[in-house]
Amino acid sequence: MADPAPKTTVFETMSSLARTLGAINLGQGFPEMEEPGELIAAAQRALAQRSNQYPPMRGLPELRGAICAYYARTQGLDLTLDNVVVTSGGTEALAASLLALVRPGDEVVLVQPLYDAYLPLVEWAGGVAKFVSLTPPYWAFPLDALKAVIGPKTKGLVLNTPNNPVGTMLSGKVLEAIGELAREHDLWVLCDEVWEGMVFDGTPHVSPLAVPALAERAIKVGSAGKIFSMTGWKVGWAVAAPALAARIAGRHQFLTFTTATPLQWAVAEAFALPAMWHREHLARYAAAKARLTDGLTAAGFAVLPASGTWFVTIDLAASGLPADDVQVAERLVREAGVASIPVSAFYAQDAERGYLRLCFTKEPAAIDSALARLAAFRAAI
Ligand code: GLN
Repeated sequence: MADPAPKTTVFETMSSLARTLGAINLGQGFPEMEEPGELIAAAQRALAQRSNQYPPMRGLPELRGAICAYYARTQGLDLTLDNVVVTSGGTEALAASLLALVRPGDEVVLVQPLYDAYLPLVEWAGGVAKFVSLTPPYWAFPLDALKAVIGPKTKGLVLNTPNNPVGTMLSGKVLEAIGELAREHDLWVLCDEVWEGMVFDGTPHVSPLAVPALAERAIKVGSAGKIFSMTGWKVGWAVAAPALAARIAGRHQFLTFTTATPLQWAVAEAFALPAMWHREHLARYAAAKARLTDGLTAAGFAVLPASGTWFVTIDLAASGLPADDVQVAERLVREAGVASIPVSAFYAQDAERGYLRLCFTKEPAAIDSALARLAAFRAAI
C-alpha cells in the first residue's frame, strides 16, 4: 500500500541539514537564547513536589484559570474554565479542533502563506481545502477572494494572526468583515494565535473571540512554547465557547489524552509572573529582531515589515538575489552555512517564490556571524 504520510516538514529538514553541515540555524523557529530561569525552577519544583501522574483530561484547573486570567488582562476576553482545553502544543490544539469541526466533504478555506500543519490536518479530517492568498509585499488580507471562494459546501476557515511566516496581523476591522461572512454563511473560524505574545511594534492583537459575530464560532489556539520561549515543552491550548470546547476535548482525549503534568504546573506558575516580566522578555526578543533587521539592511538586503512572530522575511529580488527561494535557501545552507526557510514552503498552490524567512531568536554572537556569512554570500553573487 502506498504510504500516504506527508513528507518530513521543511522545519525538520532544515534543522537536520543545519546540524549535519554545522550551519547557523535561522530556519526552524525556536530560541537559542538564555531560557527563562523562573520556568525551569518552577518545572523542577513541580517534578519534585507536585505530581507526575495524569492530570485532569482537559488540563489542570489552575492552568486553565491562569490562561483565562492572562487573556482577560492582555486581550480583554471574558473566559471561564469551561472555555479552555489544554493540549500538547498548538499543533495538537489545531488537530483536535479540526477533527471536531470537519466532516467528510466539508470545504475549509485556508489562507496562504500557511503553516504546514493546516492542510494535512484538514484532509485527515476528510475536508477539502480551498485556498486564498495574502497579497505581497504587505500581505493584505484578501477579503474579496474569500467572499468569492465561499460556496454551499464551505463550513469554516483557518486564520493565523500574527502570521507565520510573514509576521502581519489581522485588524479588528478585517475580523469584523470576516465575522459578517461567517454569520451569513454559518462558518466556524479556527484561529492560530500562537504568536500573540510576540508582537514588537505595538499593533494590538485582536482575537476573533473578541469579535461579537465570532464569539460563538471561533476557536483560539495558543501556546506556552511561544509566550514563554519553551518550544520543547509542547504545552498549548484551544479556547472556545463551552459547547465547542467540549467537542474539542472529546478529540483531545483520544489524541494525547493529557499533557505533561509538571509542565502544566510550571506554565500555570509562569502566568503569575508580573506584566513587567513579559515586557522585559519581549524587549530581549525585540533587540534580537532589531540586530538581525539592521544588519541585513546595512548589508543590502530588503527586509519586509513584520509586526510579530520570531521571523523576518527578505525580498530576494529587491535584495539583488535570484527570486527562487528554494534555490537560495539550499545555497545559503551549503555554501554560506546559514539555514533559512523558503516562504514557498508555506503554499499548497500558486506559491510566491521571492521571499525567504529568517528566525532572529538567537544570541547576538550567532546573529553577527550569520550576518557576516549572509553579507559575504550576497556580495559574491
Ligand atoms: N513553528 C515553527 C516554525 O515555524 C516550527 C514548528 C515545527 O517544526 N513543527 O519554525
